[in-house]
Amino acid sequence: MHRLTLATSWGPLLLAGGSRAGEGTLLLLPQLRLALDAGRPARALVPATTVCVTHTHLDHVLGVPAWASQRKLQGIPPGRLVVPAPHGPAFADLLERVAALEGGVGYGVEVVEANDGFSLPLRPGLDLTFFATTHWVPTLGCCLWWRRRHLRPELAGLPGEELAGRRAAGEPITYEVRVPLLAYLGDTDPRVLDLHPWLAQAEVLVTECTFLRPGERQRAARFGHTHLDDLVARAGTLANRHLVLTHLSRRHRLATGSRTIRRRLAHFGGRLHLLNREWE
Ligand SMILES: [Zn+2]
Ligand SMILES: [Zn+2]
Repeated sequence: MHRLTLATSWGPLLLAGGSRAGEGTLLLLPQLRLALDAGRPARALVPATTVCVTHTHLDHVLGVPAWASQRKLQGIPPGRLVVPAPHGPAFADLLERVAALEGGVGYGVEVVEANDGFSLPLRPGLDLTFFATTHWVPTLGCCLWWRRRHLRPELAGLPGEELAGRRAAGEPITYEVRVPLLAYLGDTDPRVLDLHPWLAQAEVLVTECTFLRPGERQRAARFGHTHLDDLVARAGTLANRHLVLTHLSRRHRLATGSRTIRRRLAHFGGRLHLLNREWE
């Protein structure tokens, strides 16, 4: 697995994961015990208390039963699985059947269905919101938001007693600041970036770049994937502190594909990170 430590306004954000189109994509945020897609079984996936699956393609889902089973086996309380509607019952059924095959005791996973616009509190000050991306099957990306309260600027410098008095009198002395810390798009073509211009401001943008060659533009469009040209065309508008790319097609060798991506997206310099890897 790749491990990244990304500077954000929240503090260093740890990411672990790996990706290859068709073979497996998973992204772990160990500080939050959160997994975004679970395309492969992995030891590091087991501690995740919340697993969000973007869509039903197997390269994003295959690790889910192993995650549920390992938590049961290791005596860890069951986790929460977030899936796009209307697939909640199918995932609940899948887990029930796999648990029955393993010996009949259910895993106890809480299956939560998400829709476009759904919001999920993770911990105080941090929550996930979900939005539709533009893949060829219904797919939900998500954004990790950091909410905090700031003192209203016109009150800066007032003594604490004065502020406490104003608060007690019902005056709002703070306002909420929402920061899009990390957006994860799963599989998608680039139209999602045009539909949601705020994605260009997320501190960390994790998205896919499946195809690289000029002759693959049509294939990318047909299967709802992003072509490297799509990102090159938008490089000037993506103001993200970090751009993390996933889902490289097996049509490209890892080393040469990575070089091509880094050369054509040289604009991003050290802001660019690649999560692609070879799964043995
Ligand atoms: Zn995929
Ligand atoms: Zn897919």
